[in-house]
Amino acid sequence: MNAYALVLNAGSSSLKFCVFRNPEPHVWRLEARGLIDGIGTAPNFSVKDAGGAAIDQRRLDIGVHDGRAALEVLAAWLRPRYAGARVVGVGHRVVHGGQRYLAPTVVTPAVLKHLRDLVPLAPLHQPYNVAAIEAAAERLPGVPQVACFDTSFHRGQPEVAQVVPLPREITRAGVQRYGFHGLSYEYISTLLPQVAPEIAHGRVVVAHLGSGASMCAMKDGRSIDSTLGFTALDGLCMGTRPGAIDPGVVLYLFQSLGLSPKDVENTLYKKSGLLGISGVSNDMRDLLASRDPAARLAVDYFVYRAAKEIGALAAVLGGLDGLVFTAGIGENSPEIRQRICEASAWLGIEVDPDANQGHGPCISRRSSRVSAWVIPTNEELMIARHTGAVLGLIEASA
Ligand code: ADP
Repeated sequence: MNAYALVLNAGSSSLKFCVFRNPEPHVWRLEARGLIDGIGTAPNFSVKDAGGAAIDQRRLDIGVHDGRAALEVLAAWLRPRYAGARVVGVGHRVVHGGQRYLAPTVVTPAVLKHLRDLVPLAPLHQPYNVAAIEAAAERLPGVPQVACFDTSFHRGQPEVAQVVPLPREITRAGVQRYGFHGLSYEYISTLLPQVAPEIAHGRVVVAHLGSGASMCAMKDGRSIDSTLGFTALDGLCMGTRPGAIDPGVVLYLFQSLGLSPKDVENTLYKKSGLLGISGVSNDMRDLLASRDPAARLAVDYFVYRAAKEIGALAAVLGGLDGLVFTAGIGENSPEIRQRICEASAWLGIEVDPDANQGHGPCISRRSSRVSAWVIPTNEELMIARHTGAVLGLIEASA
């Protein structure tokens, strides 16, 4: 009988899910990918098959007001389709694994407690990740839940890259640079040997440019540094987050503008970045289509900041062999790739405009000293693989 894994990525107002089939050892095939979004406002359910064709799409009752209710909807959808199927595990994307979790982990009550303890470090994500684990464990008693962390891939970074230079009594309580998007970077690092073997063991910057955006400096496939730090606010300009800003600005918001902690949090997570600069949209497509000077400035700043961070990470790596673009903007916007590559030409990147408009993966000229690539990420597949591997290890040792 086929084995299946369910992959869940729970956010504050959405639940993304994937069903993977495991037809043979170590192979995970996507069967369905779905989304329940608008949870608490105008909930909507949609599922597509592996080829992207719609399987189901409908508005949900407004009573679907939290993650638990969303999981009920998902369970009701799964039940008739996968009746009698062997679900080997549920893999969860968990944003924060703190200092403790260096790898995916089967969730036990003790692990769950540790994950709850990390909520203050990622208040906008971790509570929903934890709630999804609890709800899935209740619905599927006896099915192992595996937590896969966005931070784990970065835990091998040199100590100096993880420093937050504040007094020890503060840093001792866990204030350090963690880095995020680790499942995406790990997936790319597993693909590099096949897709771009000439750089797989070299010095590579991977640019994960989605509505959340970061870059990772990789040497020999391992994370050396990344632009996200203690929280998901650092580094690049993002859809609604500013990226790195002078911390004095935050003091000013409190002391001179009198904003409350909640207002400051809202400003930093929901109103800044591309949306803040443009005043129009957090979506790169809208900004690229707009003639509004503020929209142009937002795009200019996005590119400027990206090029600046590539330079910084190249310095950390002691040079650069390859640049990889991934995630929504990185995979779909030739214009942004072109502009970032041009701004990084001094490093030896020569983008090939025709290849950049095509289907990749290589988008640089043959003569380019540093090669540039587009490689679609697949965090869910990474989670499915981890889930299978962790549970396989347990079975093997039983
Ligand atoms: P998330 O961080 O939510 O997973 P994604 O990786 O899906 O984000 O990226 C979403 C972003 O990708 C959108 O906000 C949009 O700005 C951008 N995007 C998607 N398609 C295009 C495109 N064709 N051109 C420019 N930007 C795009």
